[in-house]
Amino acid sequence: MTVYNFCAGPAMLPTDVMAKAQAELLDFQGLGVSVMELSHRSKSFMAVAEAAEANLRQLMNIGDDYAVLFTHGGARAHFSAIPQNLVAAGAKVDYLISGQWSAGAAKEAAKYATVNAIDLRDGGGLDLSRLNQAGEGEYLHYCPNETVDGVAMFEEPVTDKPLIADYSSCILGRHIDINKYGLIYAGAQKNIGPAGLAIVIVRRDLLGEGQPQLPSILNYRLLDDNGSMYNTPPTFAWYLAGEVFKWLQQQGGVEAMAGVNRAKAALLYDFIDSSTFYQNRVQPSHRSEMNVPFQLTNASLDGAFLAQAEQAGLMALKGHRSVGGMRASIYNAMPLEGVRALVDFMKQFESDNR
Ligand code: PMP
Repeated sequence: MTVYNFCAGPAMLPTDVMAKAQAELLDFQGLGVSVMELSHRSKSFMAVAEAAEANLRQLMNIGDDYAVLFTHGGARAHFSAIPQNLVAAGAKVDYLISGQWSAGAAKEAAKYATVNAIDLRDGGGLDLSRLNQAGEGEYLHYCPNETVDGVAMFEEPVTDKPLIADYSSCILGRHIDINKYGLIYAGAQKNIGPAGLAIVIVRRDLLGEGQPQLPSILNYRLLDDNGSMYNTPPTFAWYLAGEVFKWLQQQGGVEAMAGVNRAKAALLYDFIDSSTFYQNRVQPSHRSEMNVPFQLTNASLDGAFLAQAEQAGLMALKGHRSVGGMRASIYNAMPLEGVRALVDFMKQFESDNR
């Protein structure tokens, strides 16, 4: 039976990439050892690292004025690293709140800066007129795809300050005009590779000394000066990310993925909207194409839905504990057939339980 994994993260990775990693796990390029057993400074690993960065730059059209950092600590490490790197202690910064992750980023930043939190949440949607509450902050932070809430912002907020975004759950899933940003970052475990790795893309002219207590391993300038090898980087995750980037290039790049992602999301939302048995409460213009939360109108059927879905090979559909119901995460690696299988299952479950 084909298993489709709808986990929000760590999420499914492309089967072709996993098969390649398996094939070369014990003997990388005829060296007789695994890539995870190589020195990060060896010629073989340096080639892996450089190719991964070059391919990411190509996929996202990133110029030399931006550093691309491969870092430890997942996305959350950067909730604290960003203010410590970019502003003086206590400086004013603006955070847009559109869901749980941007709220978390604002809370962490408040340890290092004076946060002006602008809450855009308005029922199942976002009130973008509140964007005008941003002003004096030295940068503007937002989260274009809220993984838990299934809420997305498809347009960049307009600002004359450096724009910073947590792209953890939609990087490489749709076009990003990097030149509009001062910094974007993403944990790897959704659209990039194994958990633990995070990628930071930052305009080099923004980098300075950082706040005095900034830990060296989170100091972006130090990381950039050392090619992300100030300390031993997460080498296996970096290698696997590089394989995902090659796979994306083979699929036709980010624009091609974005087309498939739109089709997958439309299939699922159209079905949910056509049914009275299921619902999604997010305002249509802000619905995420990556994370689709949905509820059964009759929540007493939740347990049966999840158990039968799992038997049908549809894994990890349970909603986030704070939201309940279901959530289908349909990142780049989820094929259209996986979403078709989910919709077919949902139709069948509905007709069995009407
Ligand atoms: N930001 C967003 C948007 C996320 O979805 C997540 C993880 N689900 C995080 C930050 C935190 O990532 P990590 O666990 O890698 O620190």
